Amino acid sequence: AGDLAGNLVAVAVEATGAQGLPRSSGLPDDLFIHDGQITKRPVRALALSALAACPGERLWDIGAGSGSISVEWALCGGTAAAIEAREDRAANIRSNATAFGLAHRITVITGTAPEALAALEPPDAVFIGGGLDRAMFDAIWSQLASGTRLVAHSVTLETEALLGELHQRHGGELMRVDIAHAAPLGRYRSWEAARPVVQWSTVR
Ligand code: SAH
Repeated sequence: AGDLAGNLVAVAVEATGAQGLPRSSGLPDDLFIHDGQITKRPVRALALSALAACPGERLWDIGAGSGSISVEWALCGGTAAAIEAREDRAANIRSNATAFGLAHRITVITGTAPEALAALEPPDAVFIGGGLDRAMFDAIWSQLASGTRLVAHSVTLETEALLGELHQRHGGELMRVDIAHAAPLGRYRSWEAARPVVQWSTVR
């Protein structure tokens, strides 16, 4: 575990020019083992900001993928239940939790939401990063205590339409994030646009 942690810090220093592991959310994607399905750094920072992680709080990270959201939440002093349908990705989450020294704060549940949520302790905040549809939302919403924070991200038109409706019905904040990175275009550079991400955040 010491080697893993040392390696993480080395990658962070290389990627950011920082002196160690940065305290800010939105760590480099390369710090996480992932298969491409990861909430990318700038968007992850926006997710953590909306989730408003506080020490001692519990997160449900639904569709946890690489577990990057759970890891950054736990780095803020909370605990997380990372729910992921795919076994290979659940294994990545376990590896990432261990590398960050957070295995005791992140519980990995291989299973499908909302069914897999029934046995869990109630959360202070919920992040939905995968699998969102109306049935899932209704099942989750009805079991959340008043005051629970909920943040959902969508990249598809279908989920985006659902978030539009949910925002109308339940309020909160709906935000579209359009990010572009400068990339080579022949001898010049040009903006390469990422897929837009829509974020809905609200309080139950
Ligand atoms: N936030 C993640 C990326 C999420 S990608 C990260 O930063 O790594 C979305 C994930 O949701 C995928 O891994 C997919 O397998 C998972 N998923 C989709 N539907 C799900 C469901 N109903 N229950 C649990 N996981 C689900």
